[in-house]
Amino acid sequence: MSEKVRVRFAPSPTGPLHMGGVRTALYNYLFAKKHGGDFILRIEDTDEKRFVEGAQQYIIDSLKWCGIEPNEGAGYGGEFGPYIQSERKDIYKPYAEQLVESGHAYIAFDTPEELENMREQAKKMGLPNWQYNGITRSSMKNSLSLSKEEVEKRLAAGEPYSIRMKMPRNQDIKFEDIIRGWVTVNTNNLDDKILYKPSGMPTYHLANIVDDHTMKITHVIRGEEWLPSAPLHVLLYDAFGWDRPQFAHLPLILRPDGNGKLSKRDGDRLGFPVFPLNWTTAEGEIYSGYKESGYFPEAFINMLSLLGWNPGNNEEIFSLEEMVDKFSLERVGKSGARFDPDKTKWFNQQYLRSTDDQSLSIMVKPHITGTYSDEYIAAVCGLMKERATFIQDIVKEGDYFFTEISSYDEKTVQKKWKEDTPEIMQDLIAAFEGITDWNTANIEAIFSQYLEKNEYGFGKVGPGFRLLVTGKGMGPSMFDICAVLGKEVVLKRMREGLDKVNALKTTA
Ligand code: GLU
Repeated sequence: MSEKVRVRFAPSPTGPLHMGGVRTALYNYLFAKKHGGDFILRIEDTDEKRFVEGAQQYIIDSLKWCGIEPNEGAGYGGEFGPYIQSERKDIYKPYAEQLVESGHAYIAFDTPEELENMREQAKKMGLPNWQYNGITRSSMKNSLSLSKEEVEKRLAAGEPYSIRMKMPRNQDIKFEDIIRGWVTVNTNNLDDKILYKPSGMPTYHLANIVDDHTMKITHVIRGEEWLPSAPLHVLLYDAFGWDRPQFAHLPLILRPDGNGKLSKRDGDRLGFPVFPLNWTTAEGEIYSGYKESGYFPEAFINMLSLLGWNPGNNEEIFSLEEMVDKFSLERVGKSGARFDPDKTKWFNQQYLRSTDDQSLSIMVKPHITGTYSDEYIAAVCGLMKERATFIQDIVKEGDYFFTEISSYDEKTVQKKWKEDTPEIMQDLIAAFEGITDWNTANIEAIFSQYLEKNEYGFGKVGPGFRLLVTGKGMGPSMFDICAVLGKEVVLKRMREGLDKVNALKTTA
């Protein structure tokens, strides 16, 4: 590749960015970084009717959270701006006119009502898919069917018009897609798409091509849903006499059951987020995001990287730098990639485990009420992280580090709290009282001595001990827990818990 690689992520601000969109952004980012190129953010807001307030900022915030920020574009600046299409409005008209002049496009005066009528009539005649194309255009109101004078008269009178692509008949359009190989589409399957709207706005197609060309985009990496538009785009490049960029259409992301495309509505319905960040609709409805659900951006991005791409071996955990190093479009598959919410949790668990206790404690802090030293919180994180998937789990599963015991695990009480357990606990309390240097090793030593002396197995003493100190039936090593909690707290809980658990047992 001799020219500088320049790729763009070009979302439309029609709502929050779906994780499929984030994957598109990620692959663009990886490709750009891999080739020392530019990653550009362009906002494609030519569809006024679908514009959603706040969506643009959401896109920028999401990329930032994911750590895949553009180095040029909307919110970042650069020498090819503006990067928001509505701010480039005036750029497009001369291009549309150029195509009319060269005979690749034409002016059409048909009103929305007239078009609707046409469709209705066709439907009645048993033709449900009426199209404005090489066959029907001669019976419509346009610069190809009307006389030159008539067209001029209408233009002079300020009649609204569209500019439409004059789709050639029966021509095979061929282009090579990096992921899909050669794609051939016959123009008889394509309609005369509107390029320029009566509102003075270009449509997506025209704006997209003009911008990709003028912004010197070398590779168009986007979702498969844009593949049907690619033949028109190719024709437009040819009509302008411009070099085509290289295309790479990414595979769909499928629902966990493999049935169809993962949609924006699937997330909360199926119990997992599909958006990077929380999104609140104008009606106040909240859609959950990965961030607020407790995911690490690194885990989210790692998971996304493998939805369509594979490194060619079994490796699964990659830092962003490693992804850049290993990524190639050649290793992106054609078939849909099934999204697996459980695997996504697994990724989070891996990241959580590999995060050091100090850093975890900073993340855990906002979830805690009460004041604890950083060392204390870090020690809790160290004990709990092997069992946690999310930061919140550390606080949830390890609640006994931050609150007094308010309930005791029912099953353990009924099954493990035997008649002689209270007495055994009394003995244990007495043995613990004698420990002067309260640490894991000493607590364990005293505990083991006690078992040995009485010829007890762990199962006879351990569960009751855990119940009194934590209220639970399971958890990390009791000696570690006790060391972190401190002698005073442990002994107090043991003493005060005895009566409480006894009461639970007798009433049961
Ligand atoms: N504006 C399109 C979208 O919303 C971008 C398609 C493209 O990348 O060409 O996804």
